[in-house]
Amino acid sequence: MADSKRDYYEVLGVSKSASDDELKKAYRQMAKKYHPDLNPGDAAAEAKFKEVNEAYAVLSDSQKRAQYDRFGHQAVDGSGGFGGGGGGYYSAQDIDLGDIFSSFFGGGFGSSSRQRNGPQKGSSLKYGMTLTFMEAAFGCERDITITKEDLCTSCKGSGAQPGTTPETCPTCKGAGRVQQQTQTLFGMTMVTKSCPNCNGRGTVIRTPCTACSGKGRRKIKKTLHVKVPAGVDTGDLFPIRGEGEPGTNGGGYGDLYVEFRVSPHDVFKRNGVNTSCDVPITMTQAALGGEIELPTIDGNVKYTVKEGTQPGDTYTINGRGIPNKTNPSIRGTHTVRFVVEVPTRLSDSQKAKLKEFESTLSEKNYVKRNGFFQKIKNAFK
Ligand SMILES: [Zn+2]
Ligand SMILES: [Zn+2]
Repeated sequence: MADSKRDYYEVLGVSKSASDDELKKAYRQMAKKYHPDLNPGDAAAEAKFKEVNEAYAVLSDSQKRAQYDRFGHQAVDGSGGFGGGGGGYYSAQDIDLGDIFSSFFGGGFGSSSRQRNGPQKGSSLKYGMTLTFMEAAFGCERDITITKEDLCTSCKGSGAQPGTTPETCPTCKGAGRVQQQTQTLFGMTMVTKSCPNCNGRGTVIRTPCTACSGKGRRKIKKTLHVKVPAGVDTGDLFPIRGEGEPGTNGGGYGDLYVEFRVSPHDVFKRNGVNTSCDVPITMTQAALGGEIELPTIDGNVKYTVKEGTQPGDTYTINGRGIPNKTNPSIRGTHTVRFVVEVPTRLSDSQKAKLKEFESTLSEKNYVKRNGFFQKIKNAFK
């Protein structure tokens, strides 16, 4: 048995030089995680819990720890570690049992036993909204209709038929909790559990509300007006506070999150706050330059194409991209890429003119082309 045991420090996930406080902290985390009360019927968790307790029982005792550090498991085994009976190393006070149980059941910690009784915020909801490219860029307003659980208007959420009121639970006298004796590894312990009669509410309903069958809630449809801010993008979540589902025991409403999906645009592309598009120009415009209009997401901008513009050349306009979500007066850039369109379906006379023109050109008119072929030549020398 001694051989198969894991290293105690490893069990607690601490280093060999861990201080007493670090040990205690690690132990408490592990003990909570694997506590049998929180993992009912889970044999693996129970085994872990025993292992953790055994490790802590040794390491929290400075003498045992020293022996263990020097001689390993053998030094501290034999008299039966934790749970071995006959005066093991462990005593309940050492690990501050009360403290651990209070954090189990004192709320905050994720125990199912207590939370039902305390205020709990309602569920948050998600609503998917598809926007056009321009709606996302500049914002828009939309009415959306959501279906959700809400408090029953007849009984105002109490679940009791109007005119009647919920009565104090006779089992727990309204406390919502009952004390129960439970066998734990520490022996018999009083634990506080949620009242099974009222499910922790502290009240019971004698005459259920007919509108909601006593549930206190009903599915409703609600229409909301949403002002979508400028600059949102696919995957962005826009919170609408308090439009989720109602909480329990005085916990507030959850929130509604609108999740956006932005449709692609025929012309414009978007990358964050920056936009781009291709602009076709003619062969002659590319060669000679000239005035053209560049499209942006909010109208055309005059531009003079430079003489000798090459296919793929770009021009970037600052402040004509997508408005910034938090400050719409700041906008991204817009980059146009020139695509030179070569004329097609030329007539015979047009072809003749082009050939005649071509015959007038020399190497100096085709700097890139000549550079390219020079490179190829050099490569195969
Ligand atoms: Zn009702
Ligand atoms: Zn009760």
